[in-house]
Amino acid sequence: MIVVMARDATPDQIRDVEERILGWGYAVHPIYGTERTVIGAVGVPEADKATYLEQLERLEYVESAIGIIRPYKFVSREFQRETTRVTVGDVTIGGDGVVMMAGPCTVESYELTLATAKAIRAMGVNILRGGAFKPCTSPYSFQGLGVEGLRILRSVSQATGMSIITEVMDPRNVETVSEYADILQIGTRNMQNYDLLREVGRGRRPVLLKRGMWAKIEEWLQAAEYVLLGGNHDVMLCERGIRTFETHTRNTLDLSAVAAVRELSHLPVIADPSQGTGRWSLVPAMARAAIAAGADGLIIEVHPEPAKAIKDGAQSITHEAFAALVDACRPVAEAIGRRLT
Ligand code: PEP
Ligand code: MN
Repeated sequence: MIVVMARDATPDQIRDVEERILGWGYAVHPIYGTERTVIGAVGVPEADKATYLEQLERLEYVESAIGIIRPYKFVSREFQRETTRVTVGDVTIGGDGVVMMAGPCTVESYELTLATAKAIRAMGVNILRGGAFKPCTSPYSFQGLGVEGLRILRSVSQATGMSIITEVMDPRNVETVSEYADILQIGTRNMQNYDLLREVGRGRRPVLLKRGMWAKIEEWLQAAEYVLLGGNHDVMLCERGIRTFETHTRNTLDLSAVAAVRELSHLPVIADPSQGTGRWSLVPAMARAAIAAGADGLIIEVHPEPAKAIKDGAQSITHEAFAALVDACRPVAEAIGRRLT
């Protein structure tokens, strides 16, 4: 059950609603927004809901009270009809535009990162990706440059005016990464790291939450719910492929999940055809397909010389291939009434 307080509700009135809910024996999860307060009542049995909803709606300081049966509430379309718009620099994600984010899998050096940033910037991309803390299956492979990588990203951002998206893996690093990044990426392996989700929920940086490679859509949306419950509503979901029996591709990019999540949730959805396929030759086709399926944006791995990339070279595309990809995506976006930003 979600109770949306009136815009001008006073602290006493908010407390009154919270106490009523607590009095009925349920837990309250208030979110004190800048415009209004929303109170989640968790654990209310179906049988009692109608009575309570009616009682709450009768209060003049309650705007609406809604019963939501799904295991996630604040991320659901029932809770909010319009797609959430996340603003990063001068880019809006979740509006009419389809937003491109691109850059190397991992930050290798200032020079290489700057070269890619300048190339993609010239193609109209304003959000630069690049991992500084890398989650690796093998403890022997390159783990990222860490804080040095964050410093490089900041310098490149200052030189180009681009916003930065980079991964945070550890709740203890959320504060540090937030100083350098405009968007915090939660990787597939950390989708159910609840301490990390809670920590980014307490912060104010927009979050890109990747789908766990094993995760059901419902589990993914519940993971997003953790972040919203912390008070941070700037969450984007990212489909990056799931594990299936197929081995030709690194993962199976689940585009039905892109369409499903748009139905179920108001959060913008991004597709990652790079991790999603693991093969550079498949990235352009899946980028176009993701836009057609309704993705609000794409995140793509680009490298000046993929054959020499430290990580994910097999799925990274050259600057030239990225330019061609952008040109090929434009008419697809327009065909469904959107535009590439
Ligand atoms: C990445 O974006 O380079 C990455 C490691 O992503 P994922 O968590 O989806 O594997
Ligand atoms: Mn990668």
